[in-house]
Amino acid sequence: MIVDSHTHVFPPEIIARRQEYLARDAWFGRLYANPKARMATAEELISSMDAAGVDVAVTFGFGWGDPGLCRLANDYTAEAIRTHAGRLAGFAVVNPASRDAEAEIARSAGLGLAGIGELMPEGQGYSLGDADLLAPTLEAARSLGWPVLVHVCEPVGHEYPGKGSPSLDGVVRLAGRFPETTLILAHWGGGLPFYELMPEVRAALANAFYDTAASPLLYDDAIFRVAAELAPGRILFGTDYPLLGQKRMLERVRSAGLGEAALREMLGGTAVRLLGLEEPRVA
Ligand SMILES: [Zn+2]
Repeated sequence: MIVDSHTHVFPPEIIARRQEYLARDAWFGRLYANPKARMATAEELISSMDAAGVDVAVTFGFGWGDPGLCRLANDYTAEAIRTHAGRLAGFAVVNPASRDAEAEIARSAGLGLAGIGELMPEGQGYSLGDADLLAPTLEAARSLGWPVLVHVCEPVGHEYPGKGSPSLDGVVRLAGRFPETTLILAHWGGGLPFYELMPEVRAALANAFYDTAASPLLYDDAIFRVAAELAPGRILFGTDYPLLGQKRMLERVRSAGLGEAALREMLGGTAVRLLGLEEPRVA
């Protein structure tokens, strides 16, 4: 089973009124000001999955600052997973800095969503090192058995819209304080697999997973093999669709020189276990 653990969808009405939302949310404005930054509906995601041979995708909206827009996004994600039962799992976008976060997590659980993400610390106005602010959200996730997907980026290297100023130290401290909450650190966790060679970092991140979202925009493909060795069984194939195409990204992972077992783990095995996914029924 091939699982893309990191995809974004938008309701058609937000895509149609993109200009308005660019002004309404500064972080969204930064990421989507370029007209080439693609936005996709759930139907487009499903078409892409069919073309690429992706069985299941984990999908979610944009991590808006405004809790009202988060609710709108979650309603759309919930509708999409109902319409495409067995093909999509949904995460809830929430802003942990808003008072509304816990209520929205509970409401999203009622809608059938299965995790939280993608948190956008910089855009939503907090830092990943702010464990007190994040505590209610991470506790709510733990009590539901939900993973929390967090946008993490590299403290070195080139600039790009949405890079932000990451605190890998903050991520490690956060994971250490909430060891029972499963974190998924997007975009290879900003390079944290390497720091897992330090025993105390490895211990703090024992319950953390990484995804491969946007990898070709950031790293050489050697990272698939190297990271699989550093964090075996804790890497989820994710594209950041529609930022990157699923078909092309799958080809890259498949030709990255991974052993067969490691490849199967990365492309779906780990996600199936983590999210309790079921094999989709063949039509
Ligand atoms: Zn993303």
